[in-house]
Amino acid sequence: MIQASVSHPPHHRRRVAIAGGGLAGLRAAEELRRQGFDGSIRIVAAEAVAPYDRPQLSKSLLVGTTSADNAIYRDAEYYKKLNIDLLLEHRIDSLDLREHCLKTTRGYVDFDDLIICTGAAPRRLSVAKLAGVHELRTIEDGIAIRDALANGPRVVVVGAGFIGSEVAASARQLRLEVTIVEASPAPLARALGDDMGLACAGLHADHGTRLLRGVSIAAVEGNGRVERVSLTNGTTIECDLLVVGIGVAPTVDWLTGSGLLLDNGVVCDATLSTPARGVYAAGDVASWPNELFGLRMRGEQWTNAVEQGRHVARNILANADAQLPFHGSNYFWSDQYGVRIQFAGITEADEIRIVEGSVAERRFLAWYRRGDRLVGALAMNEARSLMLSKTLIERRTSWGEGMAAFEKATAS
Ligand code: NAP
Repeated sequence: MIQASVSHPPHHRRRVAIAGGGLAGLRAAEELRRQGFDGSIRIVAAEAVAPYDRPQLSKSLLVGTTSADNAIYRDAEYYKKLNIDLLLEHRIDSLDLREHCLKTTRGYVDFDDLIICTGAAPRRLSVAKLAGVHELRTIEDGIAIRDALANGPRVVVVGAGFIGSEVAASARQLRLEVTIVEASPAPLARALGDDMGLACAGLHADHGTRLLRGVSIAAVEGNGRVERVSLTNGTTIECDLLVVGIGVAPTVDWLTGSGLLLDNGVVCDATLSTPARGVYAAGDVASWPNELFGLRMRGEQWTNAVEQGRHVARNILANADAQLPFHGSNYFWSDQYGVRIQFAGITEADEIRIVEGSVAERRFLAWYRRGDRLVGALAMNEARSLMLSKTLIERRTSWGEGMAAFEKATAS
């Protein structure tokens, strides 16, 4: 029996739409062109600015060593040269899978393939809306916080995750009075685990940041603008600027009713493909089974966005039976007080061992063991050792083999 083959139009007539103007979308578009794709590429973005580099927003932008313009990856000329249509200020309302189109505030965008890269949006504190209270996600948020910091405010930061820790470090660099209010027993606990989060807590104390742990904000008070916060332990702190960094939620509201499965992001298979033909996801919004660790994951990190964006582009151009699974090692870094913290892998571990340096020196490498496998590594100011560990994790090295390889490499 001859089966009708369902095939895409030839490359030059194929249309790829990228929902979301962040890093994952930009890297996907670039990779499509790098691989020789000559069909149309449209990046559909809600914001008014071209894709930009978020890591600068909580650090160099705030302390004034870089400008907002510098954070923008590419100028209009670049998109023109690559023949990528950047549709700014096109907020997407919904996805129609039957008609293969996106409905935006400025009309319809149709596609043969779609990459969903709408990222994530900050969780908000449920408090009264007062001036002087900011989240940090967009370049606009970063500019507003930078300008507020220039007035010499007393700063309270809610959440000692990445945003909270980095904003606190930047504000201290500007010699401001800073208090962090963190609900968990340790900073960065979700990313590093409690024990290693505590190891990082010392950095705040070293640099004069007051870190309150295991406590949350009960109310934000002020007459039109923030004047103080009251905490769940009954104390109050006077402040002029409140920065909220209490995590993000994947931006999937526009996909409700589309038929795609949504569960902590867009549910994808190992290749980052959704069950809908020609529809993929990449970056903060994508949930996928990561065969490297045998876990369904969603990555909120810069490297994850880069790697998934490129990976999806290559899978789009591959034959359906040649699409490859994505194996990410969940690598990230955070710069605080001139110290570089890096992590790769997962924190679900039976044992965490310091294998080099010490927490007291603020220079160490810690390894995470699960069963017989090396599954994670955390470093403070130990970049070379961390990169070596990352490679071992990606090779699924056993704990014993990893130790031997590490000792050999560091002895040389
Ligand atoms: P995050 O890293 O998830 O940290 C949020 C922190 O706030 C957690 O420790 C959380 O504790 C705590 N928290 C939650 N609710 C709270 C409350 N009501 N009061 C006090 N503390 C509370 O999220 P984020 O710092 O907001 O960062 C946002 C996103 O930007 C993340 O996706 C992050 O990966 C990304 N980012 C990354 C970098 C980097 O890689 N260097 C830098 C900046 C931002 P629980 O875990 O107990 O809820």
